[in-house]
Amino acid sequence: MRPVVEHLAAVLARVSALSPVSFPLGEARGLVAAAELRSRVDLPGFDNSAMDGYAVRAADLVGASESAPRRLPVVAHVAAGDSAAGLAVGAGQAIQIMTGAPVPAGADTIVKVELTDGGSDVVSIHDEVAIDTSIRRQGEDLAAGDVVLQPGQILTPRRLALVAAAGHASVLARPRPRVGVLSTGAELVAPGQPLAEGQIYDSNSTLLAALVEAAGGRTAYQGSVGDHPEEVRALLERLGTGVDLIVTSGGVSMGVHDVIKDVLKDSGTVRFVQVAMQPGKPQGFGVIGEAGIPFFGLPGNPVSAAVSFELFVRPAIRVMLGLDPRPSLVTATLTRGLRSPAGKLQVARAVVSVDPERGDSYVAQPVSGQGSHFVADLAEANAYLLVPAEVTALSTGDRVSAILLDDPEGSQP
Ligand code: AMP
Ligand code: MG
Repeated sequence: MRPVVEHLAAVLARVSALSPVSFPLGEARGLVAAAELRSRVDLPGFDNSAMDGYAVRAADLVGASESAPRRLPVVAHVAAGDSAAGLAVGAGQAIQIMTGAPVPAGADTIVKVELTDGGSDVVSIHDEVAIDTSIRRQGEDLAAGDVVLQPGQILTPRRLALVAAAGHASVLARPRPRVGVLSTGAELVAPGQPLAEGQIYDSNSTLLAALVEAAGGRTAYQGSVGDHPEEVRALLERLGTGVDLIVTSGGVSMGVHDVIKDVLKDSGTVRFVQVAMQPGKPQGFGVIGEAGIPFFGLPGNPVSAAVSFELFVRPAIRVMLGLDPRPSLVTATLTRGLRSPAGKLQVARAVVSVDPERGDSYVAQPVSGQGSHFVADLAEANAYLLVPAEVTALSTGDRVSAILLDDPEGSQP
């Protein structure tokens, strides 16, 4: 049996980051930047007011108080979007100014409206204000030409905002891999259709398509096919030209009708191996088609397919996106014991939650059904516990590594 790390290494050796494409900012969230980007402008672009108030000379307010307010004529009004060209604050004058408006020549400070009577022809100011108050200086955040994006950085909403503020309408980033998802099995019927004896609903294509999207890929094809070698061969050939990666489920183990194995075992590029893990032992992997696109033949049991995706397919998608393939792990304390097969990495499904007593650590409750067909227990789980190959039993209170499957909001990672 091939150790999990070795199989993962074989997978990662055959995948690489996709070539960068230019994306409008509205389509770039979550992608990885592929080129450095520098600001087109200073940020702020010009000295401007941080407050609604009055642009004045600080010297004119010395001694101002509630009982002895200063009255200054308001000689102009300037709002955000206005130009202050041609405006000037002379000695003993004020210009009414709004947040974001350019500071007019001659003014050296801003008095916020709260310290005034808000007058529009003459303003009464009842406090002193130090020089330079409430003025946002040109370039104090960033200078034109400064780097706003480095290759490899993830385009978070906040980074995208910086790119926009820096004057760029698009970014060069790695595209989402287009993934073809195919369930195989003569017994499969699409959900919503009537079932005949011996048939089951196809859940794997829904599972894998959703996992692809959650991993940052794009499901470009989703389908199901019976155990007919010619049909499967034709479908794989067709898919091979329009996608960056193919994931199938079923037909890779030791049965008589293991169609994926039948179709690809002599292709020379896809290998069918036994990986030292439970669930998910039979795995097919290689590259297919003229373009040599990565192909994953995952086992058909739904839990095996889900776990295999997490261990091998998600890392491949992440590499294609330009991301680090390694999952982030947490350590959790078991609330009950579990057994594990010798010589295999067990990926146990569990509910991991923040320890209610300590608040700063995790506890893990394995789900009751650990068989690879327990779809309801899989749905209940929010984590995979990684029980190392050499460990055969863990007890309550033991610590174990876990991959958390959903982000705290339960939305996309
Ligand atoms: P296989 O790997 O094709 O031998 O399938 C193993 C088990 O998983 C069998 O019990 C199948 O009926 C089941 N199975 C295979 N494909 C699917 C699917 N797409 N949805 C749900 N169960 C499946
Ligand atoms: Mg099958």
